[in-house]
Amino acid sequence: MTIQEVRPTRHPTAELDTALLALRTVEGTALFIDARASSQIVYFVETHHGSQAAAQVFTGFLAGCMHRITGSSVRECRPSGDAVLAIFTGPARVRDALDAAWRVIRFVHDEFDLTYRELLSCNGRCGDRACRGTLPFSVGAGIDDGPVTASTVPSPRHFYRELVGSCVSIAAKLSDVARPPNDVAMTSGAYECGQPYDPGLYEWYPSMTRVGGRLQHVILTRFTEPSVS
Ligand SMILES: [Zn+2]
Repeated sequence: MTIQEVRPTRHPTAELDTALLALRTVEGTALFIDARASSQIVYFVETHHGSQAAAQVFTGFLAGCMHRITGSSVRECRPSGDAVLAIFTGPARVRDALDAAWRVIRFVHDEFDLTYRELLSCNGRCGDRACRGTLPFSVGAGIDDGPVTASTVPSPRHFYRELVGSCVSIAAKLSDVARPPNDVAMTSGAYECGQPYDPGLYEWYPSMTRVGGRLQHVILTRFTEPSVS
């Protein structure tokens, strides 16, 4: 069987279908939203409430994020380990990615926190005097813009679809640069591409930050209203 004979089972748009089969490249904005300190969170929930509870917390986080990354410019939205990766295309792609990041941040701060607070808290039976009691759950979000190529990676049992592009890996690295609870880090290139912005919605903080081994102009974006801080 060759790669060309494998048809994708489900894809959101014809555009990426075509890109997948022909290895075509599209201009896209990558949004990467990462759960902070996820290994500590998994360990804490596992030791207090069991392995299934830890899976429940992360499934709830990933599903909740993906439900809030919506709109006509979303071309791909998927879990990536303990994070979510989304690709947006079209003229409003950067602004739509930014809006989606804000919806996710608000969801994690409000609805997710309310739903999973108990599982993220000590049940009083751990016997650990140094137990932290309750763990905060926060996310970092990174955005970059550039070419994205959908490709298929063969393995002995399955074919995996991967999205390849420097903007995808830069967005992932930038998610570590963002300061929770309500900052999104984006490259200056993505920022320029997203102009013009509604001046009432966001505040911008330019900085020079080491990303992927080199210094880059990074814009930290803070949502002005309503604040989650
Ligand atoms: Zn405890």
